Amino acid sequence: KLVSKKWKAKPTTVDLGDGIAIKDGDMAIISGPCSIESEEQIERVIAHLKENNVTMMRGGVFKPRSSPYAFRGLGMEGLKLWHQHAKAAGIKIVTEVMQVSQIEEMHDYVDVFQVGARNTQNFNLLDELGKIDKAVLLKRGISGTIEELLQSAEYVFSGGNEKLILCERGIRTYERASRNTLDLNAVPILKSKSHLPVVVDPSHGIGIRDFVPQMALAGVMAGADGIIYESHEHPDQAYSDGQQTLNFTQSSELIGYIRKIFEVR
Ligand code: PEP
Ligand code: MN
Repeated sequence: KLVSKKWKAKPTTVDLGDGIAIKDGDMAIISGPCSIESEEQIERVIAHLKENNVTMMRGGVFKPRSSPYAFRGLGMEGLKLWHQHAKAAGIKIVTEVMQVSQIEEMHDYVDVFQVGARNTQNFNLLDELGKIDKAVLLKRGISGTIEELLQSAEYVFSGGNEKLILCERGIRTYERASRNTLDLNAVPILKSKSHLPVVVDPSHGIGIRDFVPQMALAGVMAGADGIIYESHEHPDQAYSDGQQTLNFTQSSELIGYIRKIFEVR
C-alpha cells in the first residue's frame, strides 16, 4: 500500500500553509464546536483559540445526524461566514464534507476536509477527495477496523492527494457506559504501519465531557501527532454534542496539559 511505511519510510507532513502543519514529531491542536451555530459563536471560539495560540479550528456546517429532525448545520452560508473570521484571525478550518457534490462549493473556504466516521467507506467521496489539492482528515469508521481505515486512506492517497491525516475517534463495541470505545491501541499501530500523521478525537471517543481531558492526554502519550476535540463557550446550549464538549476554562486547561505532556513524551 502507498500509505504504508514499507512504501515510504519518511513521515508525511501535511502542510496547511502559513507555517501551520500536521506532522510527526509535532502536536497539532484542533478545537472548536461540534456545529457552527452563529457569527457570535464563531467570534467567541476564535477569541478563545487565539488566547491559547491554537491555529486550527474544527466545526461542522454539514452535520451527519442520527435523527433527521436534529440540527443539520448552517451549510455554505455558515462556512462562508466562518471563513471570513478565520482567515482574518489566521486560523485554519477543519470541517466535514458529506458528499461529492459539496467538495467544489466548499473547496475555497476549507483548509482540511474532514471525512466523518459515517463516510469512511464512502468510496466515491474518497475517490474525489483523492483528486484535489487540499488536506483530508479521515476518521475511522464507527465499526471500522484499523486495516479498513488504511484501505480507505489508500483510496485518497492513490488518487494523488498525499495531504492525508488519520483520526481515531472511537469505535462501537458492546460497552454502553461510554458513547464509543476510544481505541488508543490504534495510535501506535497506525504509526507503525503508516507514514501518515495520526490524530485522536477524545470527544467522540468517550462522549463524556469531564473525561475528555484525560483521554486526550492518554492519546498524546500513545503517540498521537495531534488532538481534535470539541469546545464551546456554553456547552449546555450547544446545538449538538454538548454532553462531550469542553467549556473554555476546561479547554484552556487541556491545551496547557497537552503541551506539557507532549514536551516530556
Ligand atoms: C464530528 O466531528 O462532529 C463528527 C460528526 O464526528 P464523527 O464523524 O467522528 O462522528
Ligand atoms: Mn460532534
